[in-house]
Amino acid sequence: MATLVKKFGGSSVATPEKMHGIVDRILRERQPDDRIVLVVSAMGDHTDDLLTLAAKVNPEMPKRELDMLLATGEQVSIALMASAFCAKGQPAVSFTGAQAGIKTNDKHSKASILDVQACQVKQALDEGKIVIVAGFQGITDLGQITTLGRGGSDTSAVAIAASMHADLCQIYTDVDGVYTADPRKIPAARKLDVISYDEMLELATLGAQVLNNRSVEMAKKYHIELEVLSSLTRA
Ligand code: ADP
Ligand code: ASP
Ligand code: MG
Repeated sequence: MATLVKKFGGSSVATPEKMHGIVDRILRERQPDDRIVLVVSAMGDHTDDLLTLAAKVNPEMPKRELDMLLATGEQVSIALMASAFCAKGQPAVSFTGAQAGIKTNDKHSKASILDVQACQVKQALDEGKIVIVAGFQGITDLGQITTLGRGGSDTSAVAIAASMHADLCQIYTDVDGVYTADPRKIPAARKLDVISYDEMLELATLGAQVLNNRSVEMAKKYHIELEVLSSLTRA
């Protein structure tokens, strides 16, 4: 039995077909007793679209309201992903960041995770459900919705993995691993079989968005093993 946290970025959940592809793959690849938590981002360019919309209404939108707006992107994808599992006969339940117990400070639009109280997540896993958590968002002590900054779903996944003592945190994205440089820009970039936390942190800090740098810091701190995989091909 393994506890696995699997994070799917925006491009991986951009369409209903992609969502069904993820569901089929997870049901095919899982071992009978695996406890599986998915962390998902907003579909495709949904977060960018919401930012464009916000700018049209108020170019200086209050950050609290911007977080309220942006957090809806992930809420769309978690409800759809949970329903995609249910359509295949697999019980599943979605949780917002708040419901998953992701507590943050009150720095709207760039909040930091302070603690994860994942009791609802654990209970749903005990009931045999696959759990889908909204990435990128949390809640303050005072009940305000926050977001973690662009690319923040990676950090959500690592924080949940740490709180669950997960065996592995798998980051599924649109490339099949971490390369020496962005493989979309540098065709000669080489895929790395293994990379240390510090080397990954350096790449992330230099702008390699394949892993958000705060997620790498947190993975290092809590000794979480991270694996980067393509969401399109079989592992
Ligand atoms: P997601 O939406 O799944 O979170 P991102 O767009 O945030 O995906 O990150 C994946 C992208 O990171 C890839 O499409 C790739 O172009 C880019 N990237 C930048 N640097 C690297 C690198 N060193 N190795 C792999 N991918 C990289
Ligand atoms: N949806 C958010 C973003 O586009 C968070 C994420 O994808 O990690 O930045
Ligand atoms: Mg990302």
